[in-house]
Amino acid sequence: ETVDHKYVYDFAEGNKDLKDLLGGKGANLAEMTNLGLPVPPGFIITTEACKAYLATGEEPAGLAGQIATHLEALEREMGRRLGDPDDPLLVSVRSGAKFSMPGMMETVLNVGLNDRSVVGLSAQAGGNDRFAWDSYRRLIQMFGKTVCEVPGEEFEHALDEAKRAKGTTNDLDLDADDLRGLVDAYKKIFVKHTGREFPQEPREQLDLAIRAVFESWNAERAVVYRRQERIPADLGTAVNVVSMVFGNLGPDSGTGVAFTRDPGSGAQGIYGDYLANAQGEDVVAGIRNTVPLQELEQLDKKSYDELLAFMARLEGHYKDLCDIEFTIERGKLWMLQTRVGKRTAAAAFVIAGQLVDEGLIDLDEALHRVNGAQLAQLMFPRFRLDHEFQPVAKGIGASPGAASGKVVFTSARAVELAAEGESVILVRRETNPDDLNGMIAAQGILTSRGGKTSHAAVVARGMGKTCVSGADEIDVNVPAKRFTVAGQTVNEGDIVSIDGTTGKVYLGEVPVMPSEVVQYFEGSLEPEHVDNPLVRAVHRIMTHADGKRRLAVRTNADTGADAARARRFGAQGIGLCRTEHMFLGDRRELVERLILARTDDERDSSLAALLPLQRDDFVEIFREMDGLPVTVRLIDPPLHEFLPPLEQLAVNVAVAQERGEDVAKEEALLAAVRRMHEENPMLGLRGVRLGLVIPGLFAMQVRAIAEAAVAVTRAGAVAKPEIMVPLVGAVQELETVRAEAEKIIAEVVGDSGVEVLIGTMIEVPRAALTAGQIAEAAQFFSFGTNDLTQMAWGFSRDDVEGAFFWRYLELGIFGISPFESIDRDGVGRLVRIAAEEGRAARPELKLGVCGEHGGDPDSVHFFHEVGLDYVSCSPFRVPVARLEAGRAAV
Ligand code: PEP
Ligand code: MG
Repeated sequence: ETVDHKYVYDFAEGNKDLKDLLGGKGANLAEMTNLGLPVPPGFIITTEACKAYLATGEEPAGLAGQIATHLEALEREMGRRLGDPDDPLLVSVRSGAKFSMPGMMETVLNVGLNDRSVVGLSAQAGGNDRFAWDSYRRLIQMFGKTVCEVPGEEFEHALDEAKRAKGTTNDLDLDADDLRGLVDAYKKIFVKHTGREFPQEPREQLDLAIRAVFESWNAERAVVYRRQERIPADLGTAVNVVSMVFGNLGPDSGTGVAFTRDPGSGAQGIYGDYLANAQGEDVVAGIRNTVPLQELEQLDKKSYDELLAFMARLEGHYKDLCDIEFTIERGKLWMLQTRVGKRTAAAAFVIAGQLVDEGLIDLDEALHRVNGAQLAQLMFPRFRLDHEFQPVAKGIGASPGAASGKVVFTSARAVELAAEGESVILVRRETNPDDLNGMIAAQGILTSRGGKTSHAAVVARGMGKTCVSGADEIDVNVPAKRFTVAGQTVNEGDIVSIDGTTGKVYLGEVPVMPSEVVQYFEGSLEPEHVDNPLVRAVHRIMTHADGKRRLAVRTNADTGADAARARRFGAQGIGLCRTEHMFLGDRRELVERLILARTDDERDSSLAALLPLQRDDFVEIFREMDGLPVTVRLIDPPLHEFLPPLEQLAVNVAVAQERGEDVAKEEALLAAVRRMHEENPMLGLRGVRLGLVIPGLFAMQVRAIAEAAVAVTRAGAVAKPEIMVPLVGAVQELETVRAEAEKIIAEVVGDSGVEVLIGTMIEVPRAALTAGQIAEAAQFFSFGTNDLTQMAWGFSRDDVEGAFFWRYLELGIFGISPFESIDRDGVGRLVRIAAEEGRAARPELKLGVCGEHGGDPDSVHFFHEVGLDYVSCSPFRVPVARLEAGRAAV
């Protein structure tokens, strides 16, 4: 006989490090229990049980028995039996995955109530019939909706009906008889939709609720949320079965949420919302407006003081911002949940800095507490506000940023307009999980109800999307597609601006200004910001990252201005200067002449005209990058990109011929364009192939680079040119180019002291696979992961993202576009092979990467792991790469 797998854990058996198995909520309930905090007793059904259920559609063997054993223990501890008619134990059944998925999965409260135990509950509550029947109707409503898929509106209609009959709009005006009547109405709705009576057997209620939580892992909104948040789809959820405590037993009861620091700014202090005489779900749903947590001090000083003490304890224990859900039941404080709290990007930096000051963490740990995505967020611009712009409403700054756009009132409309390229602000009374797609599509979210912990606030923060919640001066009328505020009406399509930091709402489009973090990086900080806590924290953490990182960070830049900016952002050189960008504009004609040249003389004269122009480009860049290496890539794209499009040219020529004009020149051009036309230009005549086919082209570029370096050096600066050959697939290509280049360099450089390196891009799979041979001819490699991804997967980089990647993402073929974040297993393997074999052949070989991946946080970690010397990315991503390279090294 086999021993049953352990699927159920008491809170006392778990701890905070068991999140994989017990989910985040369960692991933290266990941790609080073991810290001796007042957690209502309960047990956790593991994610493994969920996964087994989802795989087979049946509860795994042994689960039912283990639940029975743990339930008995819970009943003994509480001195009450589940659903007992006289003195019932009631439990909540709550989802809790490894990663928080706010509101995405199911919860059922008050399990154990039935026609008989409702009487016992009333007795427990001191003869409070109203409370007991209200709890029962909540159970039928939640159970019906989440377990049996009864349409929620039916229950809401019945509730509205009961209130109308009573002549009120307030739930609290319904008395016990009204609620008893409502229970009858709810039961009828239940029977109508399910074909069965509402289950009276407590254990059956429990089992069905557990099953519903398991299944909610695969609810559509949960699937969408996971995809957006890049949470793996196969983790499953744990289920927490917890003894009920009640925040709705009267004015000495209530429920709330608390943060140990401000999750918006990171400021120290007491932050949270409290709602007297209510259940926890009321706060999260934002159904009634809460009061600031500080007011609890007046309402119940004992609980308030106790809560503050627990918060300090939790923060000291977790050494981080904690968020907490609590309930007060008739003056007794219960801790219902804690976790390391979500926070804005600014708060992440500020809090990490504070915790270092407080000696709770060291700077290495502070580096782990922030990330490049957050830094990128802080580099967004904010509103520029002057007197013309007066806010029309102020809600809660739930997620920072500055967003302007057309007002929409439904998720569907948001998706529609966003698809047309419009920037939209989704305005709702409150959001719920069904609004997820609209929230993704919107530039920002504005709600009239709900606090910092409402659905809108939590989800928007997670997405890094601007959100103002609880702007209660706004009266939202969804069916009429308008809202009114301060005596004005705002219709769908009107523009509003929302500030997710201050919570202010403006009519019209407010202009924006740069972030102080960017100003800090640029060294152009306004004096009033020099001492700003965010800037100080960023400075401190970036300095530490720079001290720790092994990867250098260069930039991709091909103008002096970009080079200068990147240098201010901390770039340690240029990793990719794309020279083809220098062949556009006025110079296009010269290039056209080069391509159309019929004789050596014609060609040489075009090249001679291009030479000084190129040289000036390089002089400017070398000057800006004085003392730092500059990798200049010889021209890469197919030449026909410099000619007019074939079809248009053909039409022009035909029209001109029609008119009898002299079209000899145009005809020659057309013939050239035809001759050069390629079906697959990305796999055609580009890169090194071009250099080997058009005599003198690479030579001109090499000469321009060398002459510029000599000129800059003669002027007293230090130029460190590195000439890079693109699209090499065989060492022979590189050897041919190199032999010619070295001659020119030797001739130009003379005794100037300038040293020029020659290396290659590794962006064709064959180059990666023959890197040992190629390294014999290369002083450095730079991985072109854009082309390497394109050619390794056979995905056209210009087409596939819009064409079918959405489907691939939906199917989970990959979690993120391989053009955005390096595919470690495939493309990454090519990088690894080339790095190893290249270094084996030439130990001093310099290795870098200059594809888009150089600025992607995950990819930076990968490049650190495979031992590259540097990453190169766009100027704006340089700080992100510096930070992530530091994080990878600690
Ligand atoms: C690359 O292919 O990764 C690269 C940097 O070159 P480009 O993007 O110019 O093709
Ligand atoms: Mg390339």
